Amino acid sequence: VRNISVALTTRQIRNQTKSVTRRCGWTFVQVGDLLQPIVKGQGLKHGETVEPVGAPIRVISVRREPLSRLRDEAGYGIDECRREGFGDHPDLMWPSSFVEYFAQTHNCDVDDEITRIAFEYTVPLTAAQMAFMQQHGPHLHRRAGEEFERERSDDPRLDWLKCNGCGEMTLVQAEQWYDRELSTGDATAALSHAFQQQIGRVSR
Ligand SMILES: [Zn+2]
Repeated sequence: VRNISVALTTRQIRNQTKSVTRRCGWTFVQVGDLLQPIVKGQGLKHGETVEPVGAPIRVISVRREPLSRLRDEAGYGIDECRREGFGDHPDLMWPSSFVEYFAQTHNCDVDDEITRIAFEYTVPLTAAQMAFMQQHGPHLHRRAGEEFERERSDDPRLDWLKCNGCGEMTLVQAEQWYDRELSTGDATAALSHAFQQQIGRVSR
C-alpha cells in the first residue's frame, strides 16, 4: 500500500469529511489502488516514524484537469471545495480561495494540470462515531485548532474519543488497529463484539 501525505487535511481524513484530493503529478494512480493516508511523507528526520491517519482509502476515480476548473465553473467549484473537506471552512469553501491556497501550498500555477483523485474509506466510521462528532463538534474551539482527543482504552482495538468541550467520551476503533482489521475477513464482527462488551462494562 502506497502512502499518501495528508498533512494539510488530517482532520478531514480522520473525520471522513473529505472524498477528493488533488495532487501535482501522481499520474500513476489507478482506480482500485489502496492508499494509506499519513501525516508526513517526505522530510522525515532520523528516528521519526510515519504516522498513519485512519485506514487505507480506495481510489474510485482519477482524472487530469486544470486546477483553474474550480474557479471557472462556479457550481463545480463549490461542490469540489466541499468534497475536498472545506465545506465548513470560512475561506477555503470558496473556489477562488481554494485554488490560490492549493497553488501556494503545492508550489504550482493556477493554470497547471493536476490529478484529481476521488476515493472511499475502506473502514467507514460507525454511525455512533459520526453522531458523536456531529453532536460535540460545536463544543470544540475550532478557531483555536481544538480537535477531539484520542486516548487508548484497555482494549487495543478501541480508543476513547473525547470531547474536551464537555468531557463526554465514546469508544471508537483504534487507528493502530486498522491494518490488522483489514487483513481479516471477520474484522467488523470482532470489532462490533468488542464494542458491545466495552459499552456493557462501562455502563454497569
Ligand atoms: Zn461535547
